[in-house]
Amino acid sequence: MTNEPSTKIGIIGAGAVGATIAYACLLRGVSHQISLYDIGTEKVHAETLDLNHGMQFVPPAQVNGSDDINVLAGSDVIVMTAGAKQKPGQSRLEIAGVNTEILRKIIPDILRVAPDAILLLVTNPVDVMTYVAQKLSGLPPARVFGSGTVLDSSRFRYLIGQQCSVAVQNVHSYIVGEHGDSEIPLWSSSSIGAVPLNQWHVPGHGSLAESDRNTIFKDVQEAAAQVIHGKGATNYAVGLAVCNILECILHNENRVLPVSSLLQNYRGISDVCLSVPCLVNRNGVEDTLPVPMNVDEEAGLRASANRIREVVRSLGF
Ligand code: NAD
Repeated sequence: MTNEPSTKIGIIGAGAVGATIAYACLLRGVSHQISLYDIGTEKVHAETLDLNHGMQFVPPAQVNGSDDINVLAGSDVIVMTAGAKQKPGQSRLEIAGVNTEILRKIIPDILRVAPDAILLLVTNPVDVMTYVAQKLSGLPPARVFGSGTVLDSSRFRYLIGQQCSVAVQNVHSYIVGEHGDSEIPLWSSSSIGAVPLNQWHVPGHGSLAESDRNTIFKDVQEAAAQVIHGKGATNYAVGLAVCNILECILHNENRVLPVSSLLQNYRGISDVCLSVPCLVNRNGVEDTLPVPMNVDEEAGLRASANRIREVVRSLGF
């Protein structure tokens, strides 16, 4: 990192998700500076102190925190995690109204303190928030995107890896669509190594019959609720997933990530933010990838787009 230009990550919200993103970025040495902003004065100071107390054990970096948004000045990327989270039994879409109002208030301040930043949305419902942030900010679509189904895809890959006793890094599969109930698993283009999943028959390495697939996907859909039920929030996996996106942006890596971006004529779908595999680099979302889909997967993606669009329209956007 020492030979790379100095970079700064600004994180809005020092709750379970924001603080864990900061921690993951610190451990991996993603940026020279990490700044946390939260309206909870004591909370943001406490998280900042705790992160700084571990500085001896991580690559050199500066961590600042404040209840003054100017702490985010000059950020290269602003990560939005502030807002209400789901209570047990609540869907992500149910918290859209309150989190939209937070965006309405905070976006002018973000544009003032970090006019050149990429805006990465994590607050739920993330696809709706991404669209709202894009409209309110007027920034180019490439620079406003959401963490989308990066987390869902990592849960999916983990479960397939477990089922087949294969390292998760060798599982290549995407969840697309909404980060939420209408998301779609792209089984037809999934592979382990270069073996398409529908041809996976390795003795001693699991089966992916239809019933196994149904169980895996159901577990992905119920993953967040399961974790929230047990500990009140999800933070570690989302922290790592967002850290991975930040690394890809700040190190200009051109990784393929299923982030939530504004689609314009993607398989005929337009004017909605949802996840499909995208090329991500220092400029943000460079392009969407034309991933093969069967008829059911494409129909599912369309239904997911309609569902997100409905919520966005109900909020007046
Ligand atoms: P949390 O309640 O622990 O933290 C939220 C923080 O936001 C609090 O510290 C609060 O003080 C702060 N906040 C509220 N309004 C603010 C404002 N106007 N300005 C600055 N700070 C403000 O919640 P959490 O568990 O960290 O979750 C945060 C969000 O992330 C939720 O919407 C949750 O649903 C979402 N989330 C998204 C994903 C994903 O994959 N996209 C995964 C997990 C959680």
